[in-house]
Amino acid sequence: MCDCSKVHLYEVEFKLDGMTIVPTHKNCGDALNEKQADVFQKELVKSWGLEEKE
Ligand SMILES: [Zn+2]
Repeated sequence: MCDCSKVHLYEVEFKLDGMTIVPTHKNCGDALNEKQADVFQKELVKSWGLEEKE
């Protein structure tokens, strides 16, 4: 698992693990941990200019 404190949008690539797409940090080559994945998802939504509706 990636443990970097800051993961930027452009440092993440998606790797296919079986049937699952895993967001992976390019800098260290490890999959994002749950918290990072959550933050990343929010950044991604922001970058698309979409509002999260919950
Ligand atoms: Zn990392």
